Amino acid sequence: MSQVWLIGRPVAHSLSPAMHNAAFAKLGLPHRYELKETADDQLVATLDRMRRDGDVLGANVTIPHKETVLRLLDEVDDEARRIGAVNTIVCRGARLIGYNTDKYGFEKALETQPPDVSWSSVGFPFDHDRILILGAGGAARACALSLLEHGNSVDIANRDPARAEALVRSIEVDGRHPRVVPWPKGGEPGDAVVNATPLGLNGEEVLEDVQLPRWVIDLVPTAAETPLVKRAKATDNVTVVDGLSMLLHQAARSFQLWTAVPAPLEVMRATLPRPV
Ligand code: NDP
Repeated sequence: MSQVWLIGRPVAHSLSPAMHNAAFAKLGLPHRYELKETADDQLVATLDRMRRDGDVLGANVTIPHKETVLRLLDEVDDEARRIGAVNTIVCRGARLIGYNTDKYGFEKALETQPPDVSWSSVGFPFDHDRILILGAGGAARACALSLLEHGNSVDIANRDPARAEALVRSIEVDGRHPRVVPWPKGGEPGDAVVNATPLGLNGEEVLEDVQLPRWVIDLVPTAAETPLVKRAKATDNVTVVDGLSMLLHQAARSFQLWTAVPAPLEVMRATLPRPV
């Protein structure tokens, strides 16, 4: 039996084991997806175990390690390097190869909205729009690159402004960069907001006294809806994308990287606590 790990902190709430283990079972693959709660000072040792153990197929990497891990791997694919963050590791012998499936997951989640109308692709919804991203970590990087590639303007608001500045310097498409705006509310209202922080996981409010734009995308992947998602759903003319759809699609891409077979998407979707 081979293992796939989820490396991060905290990971106990994760919906990924149910999704991946159902998919492994459906295809009769002898693999198991396991949580590996990993503090900052344990990351190097965890990667060394992956190199040594021989029975680890790969891993997902989540908060707070996606940027740090990129510098600790043996090889990093071009897109992950452009984003500046890795969320998927594939073990090839004792070599660890880094990928990023968050950008793919974000794009698929947006292209298949709203889910109650159709699961088929309706195309990427933003073009020459202005989008506020809350956060400047790995997920924010993937979203910012995607949105710039689709011709949009991107504002970054982050608790730590230095990290926002670092994102803005390194994420670039044809000479265009995001810009830094004040945490937590951004500047003028734009067309969409993306919550790429964990705020909401434990019921925290975000943007509570701000008028919501026409799209609200909350990446926090939880069984219970976040306060931001609840408020957006209760507001007229706001399209809401919650974190479960992105979770599903990034997982499907990671699954294929580890196993070299297409993920059974519907089996994975059925494990989620709400329809997406
Ligand atoms: P990172 O560790 O790379 O970045 C974390 C970000 O969240 C940073 O901008 C950090 O700000 C901010 N943050 C953390 N705690 C707080 C806080 N208490 N108040 C304000 N800001 C905070 O993590 P990721 O980018 O990987 O993940 C961010 C969120 O996106 C997580 O909730 C994660 O689960 C979710 N996500 C969901 C995915 C999905 O498929 N649905 C995929 C990827 C991520 P600072 O720099 O100031 O510390």
